[in-house]
Amino acid sequence: MRIILLGPPGSGKGTQAQLLVQRYGIVQLSTGEMLRAAVAAGTPVGLKAKEIMASGGLVPDEVVVGIISDRIDQPDARNGFILDGFPRTVPQAEALDELLRHKHLKLDAVIELRVNESALLNRVETRVAQMRERGEEVRVDDTPEVLTKRLASYRTQTEPLIHYYSERRKLSTIDGMMAIDEVTRAVHRQLLALGAVEPKTHARSAAKSAPAKKAKATKTATKKAAKKPAKAAKKAAKPAKTAKKAAKKAVKGAKKAAKKTVKKAAKKTVKKGSKKGPKKVTKKRAKR
Ligand code: AMP
Repeated sequence: MRIILLGPPGSGKGTQAQLLVQRYGIVQLSTGEMLRAAVAAGTPVGLKAKEIMASGGLVPDEVVVGIISDRIDQPDARNGFILDGFPRTVPQAEALDELLRHKHLKLDAVIELRVNESALLNRVETRVAQMRERGEEVRVDDTPEVLTKRLASYRTQTEPLIHYYSERRKLSTIDGMMAIDEVTRAVHRQLLALGAVEPKTHARSAAKSAPAKKAKATKTATKKAAKKPAKAAKKAAKPAKTAKKAAKKAVKGAKKAAKKTVKKAAKKTVKKGSKKGPKKVTKKRAKR
């Protein structure tokens, strides 16, 4: 499954992407995360992106397209991925279309999380406060001033993607103001409706880590395999049961028939004997 999560900063894309990763065993490709890692590692890309990111601007398209193209080629992305924070401009969306076509990959859906902009500042403030409480490092661009700029860039540069994907019949819009689990359920329903996921994908069936997931899958497979012979035995026992039933029926039938014959014979004898007097015959027979 390959999907794009679209939404302004603070709309919950990252949270939903992580939940989708757990649920479907696919990877989250967040250009923001990758760029932050590049900045921290001091790579050439990181050096290019650092200032732009700190001010809330957009890193050049060719930089992010290059990062995404390389990341999609990694083995862990083979099972599918969620693009979070990419594409952010129409040229990036066009470049993505082109690189997916080139890699013979299909995009299943674009999920837009629609939120009330005035609530976003509150959300980000709460998130920052919680991160500080947990002693976590707060992003340099998570300030009200930078967020206002990021929101403006979303409106002018990213929002046209809603039209872009809706024209291509890829867009699904979900109310991002609902509670986190309600949004997750709505996303799942949408993916089901689009046929992007199997109906039996349960939230808790996908373990958080890949090995645990594998272990669970093996366990389920073993359980299934163990159940199979039992099922087969049950099935095989069925004809035996039927045969037994049939035999019982036959014996019953034979007994009934024999009883009938005896009765008939007795009747006949009685009839015959009745010419001479039934009592006598009976006695005679009884003697015999
Ligand atoms: P995010 O974590 O998605 O909010 O991204 C943080 C910052 O990384 C953004 O404000 C941009 O400066 C930069 N960035 C992330 N993704 C992109 C992208 N697709 N195109 C351009 N810049 C990006």
